[in-house]
Order: sequence, then structure tokens, then C-alpha cells
Amino acid sequence: MLMKIGTVLDVPGTVVALDLCVSEERLAQVQGYVFDSPMRVVGQIANHAGAVTLEFRVTASLRVACDRCLKETVQEFSYAETHIVVRRLVSEDEDEDGSYVLAEGECIDPEEIAVTDFLLELPTKILCKEDCKGLCPVCGCNRNETDCGCMKDQTE
Ligand SMILES: [Zn+2]
Ligand SMILES: [Zn+2]
Repeated sequence: MLMKIGTVLDVPGTVVALDLCVSEERLAQVQGYVFDSPMRVVGQIANHAGAVTLEFRVTASLRVACDRCLKETVQEFSYAETHIVVRRLVSEDEDEDGSYVLAEGECIDPEEIAVTDFLLELPTKILCKEDCKGLCPVCGCNRNETDCGCMKDQTE
């Protein structure tokens, strides 16, 4: 959903609050992740003395399989993001770290920005709990739930 921000870009001192939910349809397009809740985006777009910043917190729950024991859990992730909004970039290399948002035709797509940020922030390994014992390499049982004894004589 495009948001027109011409006034914020033009008038210093303008602040527009942002409070939206990314639709399930939009989240269903995200490859590799299953969302357990709508994604919430709360923040603001503000023009401070001509510099326009987009600040928000993005929060969503994911249904994820533990990287060690494969057990499925639902976990909430929440990240604070800040971008500088510009009408044009002077050069392509200016935006190496993706901190700039280009307002093409005075419009931005806060949902798209939030989804992209959220996916970039997610840890590459997600565990069901910090001290997850994982699966037994011998019998394959979940060692958080079963004490199979296979590992008794071995040092881990
Ligand atoms: Zn686990
Ligand atoms: Zn075992």
C-alpha cells in the first residue's frame, strides 16, 4: 500500500504517525517463513528542519522449526528501524547499507519497507530455547524430551 508523503517532504516540522498491520495476504508471499500473527508497524515519519526520517518498530510472530531439535515453536520478533527518506539519491553507492528510502513520486510503501527490514534482522539460526539439547545423533530422539542414554559413555 503506497503512502503519499508530499506534505512531510515539503513542510519542516510535519510529523505523521504510522500504525499499521501488514495484511496476511502480503505476508503469505514471504518465502520460507510462516507468520503466526499479522505484522504490526508502529512509528512515524517526521520532517526535522528539512531532514525526513522514517522510524518504526516492527513486530511479528513466526511459526519456526528449532534449528537444533526441529520442534516447531511460535516466537515473537521485534525490531526498531530508522531510515532517511529522500526524493532522490545522488548516486547508487550512497545507499550501501539500505538506510535510505527513496520516495518515488512522493510515495513510500511502509509495509514493503517493514517486511524487508524484518526479514533482514531475523537471526539465521532460531532455537526453541537457548539451551536446546537438540536431537540425539544415535537414535534421533529429541533430547529435551527424552533421556535416551545413547550419549552416556561419550563425551560431547
Ligand atoms: Zn530445540
Ligand atoms: Zn539416543
